[in-house]
Amino acid sequence: MKYKIAVLSGDGIGPEVTKESEKILGSISEKFGHQFEYDYQEVGGVSIDKNGVAITEEALGSCLENQAVLFGSVGGPKWDDPNSEIRPEDGILKLRKQLDLFANIRPAKVYKSLIDSSPLKREILEDVDFIIIRELTSGLYFGEPKKRWKDNGKRIAVDTLKYDEDEIRRVVKVGFEMAKKRKKVLHSLDKMNVMATSRLWREIAEEVSSEYPEVELIHMLADNAAMQIITSPSIFDVIVTENTFGDILSDEAAVIGGSMGMLPSASLSSIPGSNENNSSKPALYEPIHGSAPDISGKGLANPVASVLSTAMMLRWSFGLDEEASCIESAIDELIESGARTKDISLASEEFLSTQEMGDKIVSKILNNE
Ligand code: NAD
Repeated sequence: MKYKIAVLSGDGIGPEVTKESEKILGSISEKFGHQFEYDYQEVGGVSIDKNGVAITEEALGSCLENQAVLFGSVGGPKWDDPNSEIRPEDGILKLRKQLDLFANIRPAKVYKSLIDSSPLKREILEDVDFIIIRELTSGLYFGEPKKRWKDNGKRIAVDTLKYDEDEIRRVVKVGFEMAKKRKKVLHSLDKMNVMATSRLWREIAEEVSSEYPEVELIHMLADNAAMQIITSPSIFDVIVTENTFGDILSDEAAVIGGSMGMLPSASLSSIPGSNENNSSKPALYEPIHGSAPDISGKGLANPVASVLSTAMMLRWSFGLDEEASCIESAIDELIESGARTKDISLASEEFLSTQEMGDKIVSKILNNE
């Protein structure tokens, strides 16, 4: 089969890690006989320099014509002027809106042999493996009015938190579908004690729950969840929540894994496993980290987050479960057997370059049964 992928590697370490992901797709082609066709587009600072905008209309249009988008990272000191009207991040925000990427999925997993790289105690981290689903295209970051003004010389600003029931239902369904395939427990986070949107969220989650009798739905206040993620993260399996809570809590969860370089993400425009809300728009896959200007161009970037994002793409956009598992097992085995890039190595340990880690993953994939 042939699969068409838009590749937007962006700035900083984005191109370095994306190159390794393409190399891994090459080994999947070799092993399973698929063909991957790449459509390269610019995004972020490189696009600002060349085109004057963070993403062009042509690049956006081209993304829509592919089956999936592989994204690197955007940003860097060169484009950091706070007074600039055009910012590299505009590129990813436009893509999210244009592709209607309403569900952002981030796994938080702790590899046994990396437990000591985490700031948390070993006993808290045993068996931690959960995913956070964050609503991505509505809520506080998009609601209107969103403005700032002066009243009698006093500065005032407002943001608006607004959800309609369809926006809540579709992302909560993604949560139930994922929970159905895992441990059948879904935590839905809100602040129903103080917020009207949260009360609607809880009501819709209850309604959707009746379609999934096999899944236990647990409501939890988002501030309590923030504590539990640090004190007892193993109680979670699948979490679903709105945009702002999800933004903060998924960054908190990323810390327990030890390194930004290990964590992938997917942003979906349809509910996997359900015929409802089926979208022909492609999903987007990206590592959770940014462009890491401090290590860019030095061969120090860990490519695992990008490669695991690519595995998510194979599973959710192309239905290639076996191929995705093949990549994930190769990485599991390599990490457990001591393969390390600098970010996950101890001070005295030898470490692999970005490219060497990519090569190791390739040979593991090709040599594993
Ligand atoms: P960052 O994720 O780029 O880096 C944070 C720290 O983690 C740095 O020390 C970096 O060296 C390290 N790190 C990140 N990825 C790594 C990897 N794969 N391997 C090894 N170490 C890794 O976050 P930041 O420093 O806050 O932001 C840098 C730039 O990236 C900024 O311009 C920011 O706006 C942008 N950014 C972009 C995205 C995106 O493209 N989606 C996300 C976050 C930040």
